[in-house]
Amino acid sequence: MGRVFLVDVAKCNGCYNCQLACKDEHAGNDWRPYAAAQPEIGQFWLKLDDYPEGTIPKVRIHYIAHLCNHCRSAACMDVCPAGAVTRRADGLILIDPDACTGCKKCMDACAYGAVYYNEAEHICQKCTGCAHLLDNVDDVTEPRCSEACPTGALTFGDEDDPAVRDFINGASVLKPETASFPRVYYRNIPGRFIGGTVYDPAIREVIIGAKVRATIYGKTYHTVTDDYGDFWFEDLPVGVFKVVIEADGYDFKVFDEVRTDGSRNLGDIPLYKR
Ligand code: SF4
Ligand code: SF4
Ligand code: SF4
Repeated sequence: MGRVFLVDVAKCNGCYNCQLACKDEHAGNDWRPYAAAQPEIGQFWLKLDDYPEGTIPKVRIHYIAHLCNHCRSAACMDVCPAGAVTRRADGLILIDPDACTGCKKCMDACAYGAVYYNEAEHICQKCTGCAHLLDNVDDVTEPRCSEACPTGALTFGDEDDPAVRDFINGASVLKPETASFPRVYYRNIPGRFIGGTVYDPAIREVIIGAKVRATIYGKTYHTVTDDYGDFWFEDLPVGVFKVVIEADGYDFKVFDEVRTDGSRNLGDIPLYKR
């Protein structure tokens, strides 16, 4: 048995219920031996981060829930000199608030920024997987954060469950290069986009049906402008694209170096009649 969190970014609407539910469960509530009370401010054991991309009017935003990954290879546990960080049989990683000496070594070792320091208690703290509820409350099978998610973007389960395995197959983890083998799996983290609006400046009208292609490393993506003259290439990798725009009767337009280290709005693009 191994407990895991599943995050489908495409389903997250940014309601912050997960973050609020975690706060509600832990801020001011002492759940020893699982965790001491979380301070009212300064800690987010689940933190919802927003990622706006592009520039007005071509903007997209997505949200990603970040929490302790309950890593299978947990640096926080490896470095703790007090033996305060332990892994349960179900995979959840806990910091014993009474054994923690507040040396912050776990905090420094965690590549995910998941550990917080409690100034008043002089201890380190983080997500517990709401193990106090899982262990002690009848009929509770999931933590407060996933229970509060109205869209199914954040769920919790057992990795032996076939539906969970299906999700995990094809999902990704954050910072895989750390080889920490997280128990939080993500799907549908969007890539970058390139967008723009094509128009004819002579008649001040958008051009519908212009052909647009974006090329990188020998791979070409195709689209056409819509009824508003807009085009979007969605979910692109990071790199340098060549974008070419063509429409019947017009000179074509080339953007040689469109960098997708962030999403790009190429703005209003005039095409001139031949
Ligand atoms: S995310 Fe950080 S705090 Fe959580 S188990 Fe991994 S190394 Fe430890
Ligand atoms: S599992 Fe519990 S402690 Fe962890 S983020 Fe969710 S609500 Fe917070
Ligand atoms: S509760 Fe669900 S939908 Fe709302 S912000 Fe959290 S993950 Fe997204």
